[in-house]
Amino acid sequence: MIARARSLLASVFGFADFRPGQEDIIAPILAGRDVLAIMPTGAGKSLCYQLPALLDDGLTVVVSPLIALMRDQVAQLTGLGISAGALNSSNDAAESRRVFDALRTGDLRLLYLAPERLAKPDTADMLRRAGVKRLAVDEAHCVSQWGHDFRPEYLALGELKRALGQVQTLAFTATADAATRADMVERLFDHTPEIFVGGFDRPNLMLAMQAKDGPRRQILHFLQPRRGQNCIVYCSSRAGCEDLAQALNQAGHRALVYHAGMDKSLRDANQDTFQRQDGIVMVATVAFGMGIDKPDVRFVVHADLPKSIEAYYQEIGRAGRDGLPADTLTLYGLGDVRLRRMQIEDGQASDEQKRIERQKLNALLALCEAPRCRRQTLLAYFGEQSAPCGHCDLCIDGVQSTDGTVDAQKALSA
Ligand code: ADP
Ligand code: MG
Ligand code: ZN
Repeated sequence: MIARARSLLASVFGFADFRPGQEDIIAPILAGRDVLAIMPTGAGKSLCYQLPALLDDGLTVVVSPLIALMRDQVAQLTGLGISAGALNSSNDAAESRRVFDALRTGDLRLLYLAPERLAKPDTADMLRRAGVKRLAVDEAHCVSQWGHDFRPEYLALGELKRALGQVQTLAFTATADAATRADMVERLFDHTPEIFVGGFDRPNLMLAMQAKDGPRRQILHFLQPRRGQNCIVYCSSRAGCEDLAQALNQAGHRALVYHAGMDKSLRDANQDTFQRQDGIVMVATVAFGMGIDKPDVRFVVHADLPKSIEAYYQEIGRAGRDGLPADTLTLYGLGDVRLRRMQIEDGQASDEQKRIERQKLNALLALCEAPRCRRQTLLAYFGEQSAPCGHCDLCIDGVQSTDGTVDAQKALSA
């Protein structure tokens, strides 16, 4: 079976080989087991449910939180000659009819469902009639309050599974924090699935963090030599996005804005431009990025402190998906920390959840102020031990002083 998988990998997807981890995940899936796979962003999780969907009969239902991501994947699969469809709020009537027809005739291999669809009463009926072989839950951390992107609609998955009876379940996420993991297992599976944890290290990402000290100047300074390359700058506020984009445009960059306060058509147009063209700095809130599949983003900047280490990791993970070197820079200030503390304390969350959020903030601050290798500190948070990386900002500061010694020696021997 895995040999057939390998041959389809080449003939259908055009990939020479599996990426690390993919084979280990696909094999138990083909053997019919439930799987929870935790793998970093860009690792290639989609393929782990797409490929098995082609190998045996029956329908794979994919639950995914973002319409843009669904649209891209359906277009990509259709382009590869695979029968796939999506049901979400952006469908027109003709598109929905095409999907329903394909479901009835049993032609569909992959059906993408938006979370809002899960709780609709006709969804379970429709799926029961169509017959579901597998349920693949993408961005599965959305089912947990302890994840950084809780979607209450994901809770309807349990009900749907009961309605469908026995259905093989797969869950995928890049988030690995222990509480989130436990929630995913409890809410998505009837019994403990096979859990696969891939490596979190992204050696091609250069990590750097700086205390804010004239943030606009720091960002312009960072981007100046990197003009013309693809870059994402995350800001915590909509106004911050607008201001910074204006400053970047004035400095001769090509900056676009993306945040939830914009007119949807403009927002979508900007996302499209970023996806299709090169040399654009996208200045965005965290509303931007889930499901963006642009392999050659060279820089990710956080103009403000991210929300947690998980969010930081996911956001910088949008750089360098092609495996080539990519730079990241995160700025943090006392104001960010105060704001975050206030958001936590004033929020509606339970005491338990507030405690967790405080812990997550403290872990993030510890990463900002890490005394040694930043990558080592980051990976340790995800439970991975590693040696100093040699190319984060903190490692390089150490290296620079030895370079200084070399220079001094050269000067002496000259
Ligand atoms: P994830 O969901 O884990 O963040 P994706 O599924 O979006 O990652 O895949 C990231 C990129 O890797 C996509 O462009 C995908 O086409 C590519 N990819 C996946 N598997 C392989 C492979 N075996 N060889 C080459 N590219 C791959
Ligand atoms: Mg994905
Ligand atoms: Zn390092």
